Amino acid sequence: MATWYHAALPSKLLSGAHPSLSAFSRYYWVIDSYKSNCTLAAFTYLPKLSFPGSSTTRASQRLTQISRRFTTNSPSKMPPIYNKPQVEKYDYVVIGGGSGGSGTSRRAASYGKKVAIIEATDRPGGTCVNVGCVPKKIMWHAADLREKIMFHAKGYKLEDLPDAPKFDWSSFKTQRDAYIRKLNNIYHSNWDKAGIELHQGLGRLTSKNTVEITPPGGEKYTLNADQICVAVGGTPTTPKDDEIPGASLGIDSDGFFALEEQPKRVAVVGAGYIAVELAGVFNALGSETHLIIRGESVLRTFDPAIQEVITPWMEHSGVKIHKTSKVVKVQGQKGQTLTLETNKGEKIEVDCLLWAIGRHPCTKGMGLEENGVKLDGKGNIVVDEYQTTSVPNITSIGDVQGKALLTPVAIAAGRRLSNRLFGPPQFKDDKLSYEDIPTVVFSHPTIGTVGLTEPEARKKYGDAAVKIYKSNFRALYFSMIPEEHKEPTMYKLVCVGPEERVVGIHIIGLGSDEIMQGFAVAVKMKATKKDFDSTVAIHPTSAEELVTMA
Ligand SMILES: Cc1cc2nc3c(=O)[nH]c(=O)nc-3n(C[C@H](O)[C@H](O)[C@H](O)COP(=O)(O)OP(=O)(O)OC[C@H]3O[C@@H](n4cnc5c(N)ncnc54)[C@H](O)[C@@H]3O)c2cc1C
Repeated sequence: MATWYHAALPSKLLSGAHPSLSAFSRYYWVIDSYKSNCTLAAFTYLPKLSFPGSSTTRASQRLTQISRRFTTNSPSKMPPIYNKPQVEKYDYVVIGGGSGGSGTSRRAASYGKKVAIIEATDRPGGTCVNVGCVPKKIMWHAADLREKIMFHAKGYKLEDLPDAPKFDWSSFKTQRDAYIRKLNNIYHSNWDKAGIELHQGLGRLTSKNTVEITPPGGEKYTLNADQICVAVGGTPTTPKDDEIPGASLGIDSDGFFALEEQPKRVAVVGAGYIAVELAGVFNALGSETHLIIRGESVLRTFDPAIQEVITPWMEHSGVKIHKTSKVVKVQGQKGQTLTLETNKGEKIEVDCLLWAIGRHPCTKGMGLEENGVKLDGKGNIVVDEYQTTSVPNITSIGDVQGKALLTPVAIAAGRRLSNRLFGPPQFKDDKLSYEDIPTVVFSHPTIGTVGLTEPEARKKYGDAAVKIYKSNFRALYFSMIPEEHKEPTMYKLVCVGPEERVVGIHIIGLGSDEIMQGFAVAVKMKATKKDFDSTVAIHPTSAEELVTMA
């Protein structure tokens, strides 16, 4: 069932808009039946806050003001949104206008192909831009800054700063939303400049060469295509009320970005990177933060050495970690005090409960299996190494194929796919290697990792072949800072074979997010420990430790 919400966009953002956009953008679309399956629901959060005449009008006014400030460099004329086919047949129809969909479409268009993107929301850019990497990192910066002011600045004799600066969550959110809206416009404008048509609505496969679009409020129509790419991403998983009574009183990571006010007390459930990052932000910004995890440590798929450093440090910095615990019941009312009960009989009172227990693909109701596209047991699209599904002219990229759920992975896979499908002969076998993908966790301090963990290397190469180099130290930055606020640093190299090829690097400590990218190049190039040793250190940095370990 489709429900329509009326929500005027800030007028400035719509001025000069294409008529179809102005008409269209007054509405934000929530498909109730779809909500539990797809990210669409995510994008209902932001617009709902700008309902005129609602309790959120204040936010709307602020958004309008700030939008003005942020839209000065935005395209003055909004590009069109199409509501019917513009050609009889497209070379390439891409369902999903997120990281992967955008990457593959733009590359295909650069080869002169006729491309259409079908995007269900009015928020070009997908999860990363709207409810993922970008707003998350912005929140991390705010949290990081507050920690530095509170715990580090005095050590550097910066005086007269407040002991605990107050974070104005509400107005920061407005400012953040306006920036995201600007990014949405830039995405749309880039597609338009590349000659890519944006069709807004829900895409569904009706045959191996046709995609039906259900636009919000409009008539269904169909695009014909030689090649179709499914890039619809994923959405947060939350428990159902019949699994955990009261579970629906909680929010998910999409809801985090919709929070208008900072909760005083919050419980985050989950041990993965999203749980760790969001709990870290809440804690550093001053919320009483509980983290409920099933095991003894967080980030259980990461190298054990990382888990051993980050888990106690999170506790040391104030996060109350409830180990080997599961929420069995939630009582209370949304927006008011919630009481969580754990399997250990513990009762935790909070103002906000956030589930961060995983994500699932948006494949339900998309006509995939009916048209021969195979899904795995979790609903992910099964693809070969060239991103091709079980139907030869249908491909899939990004989170929806369940592998390495990261923005740069979706983009890189998408670009290579278009190189292969539409590019010059030298790209006829182009594909993304899913090996040695670097990744970062925006915890406090940050974590960087690439390649195999120690247990993975031991399993793959045998104990005798594996040699570990490890160093625990305090970064020079902390020399001026009281002992209790000196963040830990741990660097680990996993090497294999007589030549000591570096097959894994796992680091935690100040600046790890920025350090990892360059070292990932070395791992990708199959560098050995000797190569590391022969690289001259940069002094004084933390990163120099990686090339001086004995
Ligand atoms: C809280 C959070 C933090 C994250 N942080 C990071 C990070 O720091 N670094 C990183 O690399 N990754 C991060 N990610 C992961 C990253 O956001 C995803 O890996 C990335 O967005 C995947 O891109 P995609 O194109 O596969 O899917 P998406 O970006 O999700 O795009 C899919 C698009 O398809 C649309 N869609 C869905 N169904 C349909 C349909 N039937 N018809 C038409 N359109 C449809 C959706 O509206 C959406 O716009 C984070 C994710 C979350 C949730």
